[in-house]
Formats: sequence, structure tokens, C-alpha cells
Amino acid sequence: MGAITLSGVEKWFGEVQVIKGIDLEIADGEFVVFVGPSGCGKSTLLRMIGGLEDTSRGKILIDGKDVTDQPPSKRGLTMVFQSYALYPHMSVAENMGFSLKMAGVKEAEWRAKVDAAADILKLEPYLDRRPKDLSGGQRQRVAIGRSIVRDPTAFLFDEPLSNLDAALRVEMRLEIARLHRNLKRTMIYVTHDQVEAMTLADRIVVLEYGRIAQVGTPRELYENPANLFVAQFIGSPK
Ligand code: ADP
Ligand code: MG
Repeated sequence: MGAITLSGVEKWFGEVQVIKGIDLEIADGEFVVFVGPSGCGKSTLLRMIGGLEDTSRGKILIDGKDVTDQPPSKRGLTMVFQSYALYPHMSVAENMGFSLKMAGVKEAEWRAKVDAAADILKLEPYLDRRPKDLSGGQRQRVAIGRSIVRDPTAFLFDEPLSNLDAALRVEMRLEIARLHRNLKRTMIYVTHDQVEAMTLADRIVVLEYGRIAQVGTPRELYENPANLFVAQFIGSPK
């Protein structure tokens, strides 16, 4: 569950090619971070995996099944964004359970899933509050909780911490690392922050103008960057 394979994946927006021949195997339970400068195609590639952008060429497989032409709902993945619009008129519990409720899940069942997610995220004391009565970090936890209740095979994060202040970013980074240890689910995490990449990743994928510049563990990239671009990006001495 949760293995993702990209094979010859490409994307054009009109005449402009933004993703170029991406081949990548992500193992079940792996934490993979896509890094690279703004505009290099991180979000586009993540959205293609999630099914929010179609794939111009190539294939995307999840657990060996070709999902290239499948809608997001058929992929079993969930996406967490930097903007995490919560419904202001609903409680934390209702926000977290909303998608299950909409899918026809009975109240006792969605409440149980919300309670389990709240336990993981330490949100139990806040379940009856409205989003406006939460801190930024707690709101981000609720947004992650909305994903957890759906029991996805993989989590896709697009710069989920970039709107938070520095102290909170550190706290939430540790929280996401803990979540990964806890759930043991595949996570793909997009960031332009080297520290987040180096500390969270099992493997880092460095993107440069829509191509993979290098794939490796943080240590491999640091000790043996493939080129100057990677070295500068990772901050290693080459
Ligand atoms: P990143 O997330 O790494 O900053 P993006 O994936 O958002 O980069 O964008 C990659 C490139 O694709 C950029 O040049 C961007 O302008 C372009 N792009 C992204 N979305 C669209 C779109 N819907 N239409 C046209 N160009 C787009
Ligand atoms: Mg982006």
C-alpha cells in the first residue's frame, strides 16, 4: 500500500514544458521530499500525482495500478496545502469529519475516526472549538487531521508550513516527522526549505527546471552532490 511509480512523466502548459521525463520509484511508507527553487515544477508534479493536474505524457502508478487517467478521488491519496481553509461555522471535530460525512459515513463512525486523529495530533481538548479560537499551529493540525480521517495510502504536502512563523514551523516540522513515524504512510513533501528537506526526508528529489537533478538520502546529497546546482541548493561544500 502506498508505493508510487512515475514513469516518463511530462507536463506541458500550452507550448511550455514544465515537467520533463521524470522517472521515480517511491516505496511504501517512504518520506520523499521534492526540493528546488521557485518555479522548478514541484507543485505541478505533486498535483499530477494527486490527480489535480493531468499528465501530458508518461504514467503514474499507485501500488502497481495505472492511475494516470483516474480522478483524485480514485487515487486514495490526500493533499495538504499551505492554505488550509477551514469552515469557520463548524467545530474542529466537524471540520475534520466533514468529508466522511459527505461520503455518507455514519456519525458514530466519523466521530470515532476524528477522535483517533485528534489523539495523534493532540487536538482532543479543542474538538468543540471553532477555527477562529485556535492558534495557527492548531489550525494546521486540524487541516492535517482532515486528511488523516480519510485513511489515505499516501499524504501529499505542498509547502504546508510556509505561512507559519519560524518557531511554529519548527514545531510543525517535528509534528509531521512524528506523524510519519506514527502512521508509517508514504509522504511526499514539497518545500523550498533545505532544513525541512534535510531533516524530514528519507530521500530528497532535487528538481531543476522540471528535471530531476539528483535523488538520494540527505546524507548522499550532502556528501556527494551530483553538480553545483545541487551543492548550492543543499548547502554542501562542493
Ligand atoms: P514550484 O511549485 O516549484 O514553484 P510550479 O509547479 O508551481 O513550481 O510551476 C512550474 C512552472 O509551471 C512555472 O514556470 C509556472 O509558472 C508554470 N505553471 C504552473 N501552473 C501553471 C498553469 N496552470 N498554467 C501555466 N503555467 C503554469
Ligand atoms: Mg509550488
